[in-house]
Amino acid sequence: MKLRRIIGVLLCLALCLGMLSGCGGEKRYSGEFYGAFDTVVIVTAYCASQEEFDGLFSQTEEELLRLSRLYDIYVPYEGVTGLYQLNQKAGQGPVEVEPEVMELLLFARECYDRTGGVVNVAMGSVLSIWHEAREQAAEEPEKAQLPSQEALSQAAEHCRIEDLVLDEEAGTAELRDSQMSLDVGAVAKGFAVQRVTESLMESGYENFVISAGGNVQAQGAPPEKEGWSVGIEDPQQAGELIDTVTITSQAVVTSGGYERFYTVDGERYHHIIDPETLYPAQRMLSATVICDDGALADCLSTALFLMEPEEALEFARSQGALAILVTLDGQVLDTQEK
Ligand code: ADP
Ligand code: MG
Repeated sequence: MKLRRIIGVLLCLALCLGMLSGCGGEKRYSGEFYGAFDTVVIVTAYCASQEEFDGLFSQTEEELLRLSRLYDIYVPYEGVTGLYQLNQKAGQGPVEVEPEVMELLLFARECYDRTGGVVNVAMGSVLSIWHEAREQAAEEPEKAQLPSQEALSQAAEHCRIEDLVLDEEAGTAELRDSQMSLDVGAVAKGFAVQRVTESLMESGYENFVISAGGNVQAQGAPPEKEGWSVGIEDPQQAGELIDTVTITSQAVVTSGGYERFYTVDGERYHHIIDPETLYPAQRMLSATVICDDGALADCLSTALFLMEPEEALEFARSQGALAILVTLDGQVLDTQEK
């Protein structure tokens, strides 16, 4: 009788502990850092111990920071030869690049082909004009100005993706037009988070989610859950959600015009530029993509944001991706609706 009571108590204790810590004794840990891709990165994981989480966290931080420096086009870092240096050497022949730069550029070129050229990393000359206008406006809002049409049209002459020449065997990249430059903002963060996810899995981590700005990438699922729950922000109301999706081994990436913009004469001008008009796209408030690959999700979310809503839904379906769009008038459209 006594033995049964003891067993009963032990069983109860085990159950309680199990509920506290999830199955397999794994607990939820979370941490964040700033410095990669100009955004806060939040890492959440289920791990057996604090030490295990610390390993996962520092690997994520180290690798994302390294990639972010390689892909930065605005700031040169000591000891790093990345896209900043490549842009500086435009028109000066082939430049030796790190394997991670080569891989990103190969992917970016593929992205151009997939999206019919709407996502074009060779558009740096045009994008930098908008970037400068935004930066100036941030310093002196009352002096905010639109770029001159002439400067935009002139820059648009130097955006040919064919002038980005990649030699995989030699490990070199070349910008054939001395006035061109690369801007990988549309794809680099997703590409980097995808790479780091793969590297964490190679290190044996199985259950985590990395959230970097509008990019969320998950692996595994919390104990006794189907997947990680990810909220999709309402572009019209900060902090509110329009939807929640559950993902496992997938990425959710949102592109929107509601976070990075500046204002001229009461009109907002955001950072995703239509290659046809050379102006911020005016079709969507936000475009969210859910698919297995985080790099593709990033490429597609920017592409969908640049398309007409119906065309965007069809395109997402053709790419095997789920999409949730918020149109200019606030309507929510979704690939699952027919
Ligand atoms: P975010 O950087 O806000 O996460 P996106 O993935 O949509 O959002 O990328 C936007 C960035 O992509 C811009 O800041 C700019 O650097 C770049 N960009 C803007 N328009 C284009 C375009 N048509 N093609 C390629 N890159 C673009
Ligand atoms: Mg993108």
